[in-house]
Amino acid sequence: MISCSEAQRLIAQHKLSLKEENIPLLEALGHVNARNLKAPISLPVFDNSAMDGFALKSADTQDATLEAPVRLSIRGVVKAGDSSSLAIRKGQACGLMTGAPIPKGTDAVLAKENVVVQDNFLIVKSPVSPGKNIRRKGEEIKKGQTVLSEGSVINPGTVGFLASMGIHHLYAYQIPKISLVATGSELTVPGNPLERGKIYDSNTAMIRAALEGMRIRPFFTRKVPDRPDLIKKMIHFALKESNILILMGGVSVGDFDYVKPILADSGVETIFWKVSQKPGKPLYFGKKENCLVFGLPGNPASVFTCFYEYVYPAIRFSMGYADAALSSEWIKLSQAIYPDQEKTLFIKARVEPTQERQVTPLKHQQSHMLSSFCQANSFVVVPGSKQVLEVGEKVEVHSLPYLCGGIS
Ligand code: AMP
Ligand code: MG
Repeated sequence: MISCSEAQRLIAQHKLSLKEENIPLLEALGHVNARNLKAPISLPVFDNSAMDGFALKSADTQDATLEAPVRLSIRGVVKAGDSSSLAIRKGQACGLMTGAPIPKGTDAVLAKENVVVQDNFLIVKSPVSPGKNIRRKGEEIKKGQTVLSEGSVINPGTVGFLASMGIHHLYAYQIPKISLVATGSELTVPGNPLERGKIYDSNTAMIRAALEGMRIRPFFTRKVPDRPDLIKKMIHFALKESNILILMGGVSVGDFDYVKPILADSGVETIFWKVSQKPGKPLYFGKKENCLVFGLPGNPASVFTCFYEYVYPAIRFSMGYADAALSSEWIKLSQAIYPDQEKTLFIKARVEPTQERQVTPLKHQQSHMLSSFCQANSFVVVPGSKQVLEVGEKVEVHSLPYLCGGIS
């Protein structure tokens, strides 16, 4: 039996090596950029107006005062999107809208709010400094400069930024092909009547939803009874076709827990089995070529905990995330916790977004119970100890990222 931190270390060590792929920008959300990206154009693309107003020659306005304003003759108007060839001479100005190119001969823009127009003349009552209200070509980004480094996670802002340079495809690390296999002769798919002795398969739906929160659709999902021949067939197929195989159930010490011996027979190297934790002690982790294999003990709380503490980071490591594990912070407890003397406890809990943040352990923590999942937005991580954790004490809390990395 190994510790949780040792298990997490071993998983980080067995990162998959996945190829990079060229994907459309619109499908890139949540992927990790695989190559340093250079700007194909400068930003802004050309000198343009920051305001709705009037373009003029600043030199024309240098002697303008309240008592002796300068009068400039207005020569037309340039809108955003125009490619006007309008040239402005001494003593002239022109209307100019936000985003419109700066007309030839002008070097400043006077905002509409600060001007007076009389009989098609612009009345300027104070000097305008050169460059005023002009957004310069390349002032933010110069063509050819690196704009996104390898390893950056693509968020909606990144998508907008890249689109502003006309980028529509990029190289990102591949998302692993994930297979999901639930074993157990008792399992019934929701929607079908329950026969005596059977239960509904909740784990498959739960992990599919967790993957969907990461924008991942499993490559295939199957439910198999506790029959060695069928489990073997499924495992052989999944090992060949996927990068991550998640098995649920059948990895414990029961008479019908066939998964481990079949994995060994199929050439999967065991990296660990059994972690000093509750729930999820019989967690299995192995590897065959470029396929990682997780055997999650079937109790739903074990599946839930082991997925987020171990599988979630493994998936993100292989997608190129540097911060692959759940985010962690120390928060005050609102109720005392009695640790296990040896095992690490992962306690489903809720952090309320109040100013004085507190974490509250939820009811129904046993490994066959699921009702607390509805309120849980975190785990309190309690290392083995004889000492009670008192109210107000700060404890380590791992946030659950239900939707695309966001906290619920
Ligand atoms: P196992 O790990 O196969 O020994 O299963 C442990 C417990 O989890 C048993 O009570 C199983 O009935 C239950 N279980 C296993 N797989 C599932 C599943 N997919 N959905 C709900 N409960 C499950
Ligand atoms: Mg079973």
